[in-house]
Amino acid sequence: MEYKVGVISGDGIGPEIVSEAKKVLDRISQVYGHTFHYEDILMGGCSIDATGVPLTDEAIAAAKASDAVLMGSIGGNTATSPWYKLAPELRPEAGLLKLRKSLNLFANLRPAYLYEELKAACPLRDDIIGDGFDMMIMRELTGGLYFGQRSTEEVDGVLTAHDSLTYNENEIRRIAKRGFDIAMKRRKKVTSVDKANVLDSSRLWRKVVEEVAKDYPEVTYEHMLVDNCAMQLVKDPKQFDVILTENMFGDILSDEASMVTGSIGMLSSASLNETKFGLYEPSGGSAPDIAGKGIANPIATILSAAMMLRYSFDLDTEADAIEQAVKAALHDGYRTIDIMPREGESMEGITQVGTAEMGDLICRYIVE
Ligand code: NAD
Repeated sequence: MEYKVGVISGDGIGPEIVSEAKKVLDRISQVYGHTFHYEDILMGGCSIDATGVPLTDEAIAAAKASDAVLMGSIGGNTATSPWYKLAPELRPEAGLLKLRKSLNLFANLRPAYLYEELKAACPLRDDIIGDGFDMMIMRELTGGLYFGQRSTEEVDGVLTAHDSLTYNENEIRRIAKRGFDIAMKRRKKVTSVDKANVLDSSRLWRKVVEEVAKDYPEVTYEHMLVDNCAMQLVKDPKQFDVILTENMFGDILSDEASMVTGSIGMLSSASLNETKFGLYEPSGGSAPDIAGKGIANPIATILSAAMMLRYSFDLDTEADAIEQAVKAALHDGYRTIDIMPREGESMEGITQVGTAEMGDLICRYIVE
């Protein structure tokens, strides 16, 4: 098959980690006989330097014309870069917000997977970790409290702030369907997280999730209150497969879940709309402190490319091959600097490698 992939390399380590992900996709082409056509799209600081704005209309059109977009990261050192002396709507991050909005990316997916080899980086006790955990946080991204009306005014001489949380049933239905679809590709369990004992929006959330669940008889589902979910994530993370939740709860829970997996350099993500289109990017930023040194961890971006194959192109076997290759490289002791054993931990069988070497190794583990 042939696929058009928009590529936003971005700033800082972005170009370094994206080129490793392309290397891995090219290896997949070679082994499985697909063709990926890449189109470079400017966004972030590099777009400001070239065009004066962080995202042009042409860049949006190019992203829309792609089957999916693979991104590195954007932005610079917020204290020293001249990009941050510009008005907020002209700064690098404004480009990403505009792109998400233009593409209507309402569903954010963040896997939290604990690699056996990186268990030492997990802050949880061994008996809680057991043989690891593998969950997917599915967060609604374009509604709820962050997009509601807000104001601050003086009421009877007292400063009073107001935020509103609104969801309609259609917004809930489309994310719930996405959550159940993803569960069908995994262990077929959905935990829908809400605060239905207090919030009307959560009661509607629960009602719509129950309606959607009827179309997925193979998927087991449960409801969980958000405060309980926050506790369960550190008490027994193994119980979760897909966590489906609204914007603010997802914001908090996805950070909590990712913290228990270890390094930022390992965390992939996807943002999807109603079609098969998605924007795939590592969860980390542009890491200006290590940019250009050839030491950044490319695995999060490589795993984001695997998500692209799975969720936008339905190439599950190929996505599995990438994920297995990452596991094999870790199993054989290869580590970038951010995931090296810490002081006092065993260095036996461990080899430190740079960005490009890690990309090469992962390609080598994808075999015909
Ligand atoms: P950051 O994620 O870039 O870096 C935090 C720390 O993690 C740094 O020490 C960095 O070296 C390390 N790190 C991050 N990714 C790594 C990788 N792949 N391999 C090894 N180490 C890695 O966060 P920050 O320093 O707060 O932000 C830097 C810039 O990135 C800012 O301009 C910020 O706005 C931007 N940012 C962009 C995105 C995005 O593009 N989606 C996301 C977050 C931050």
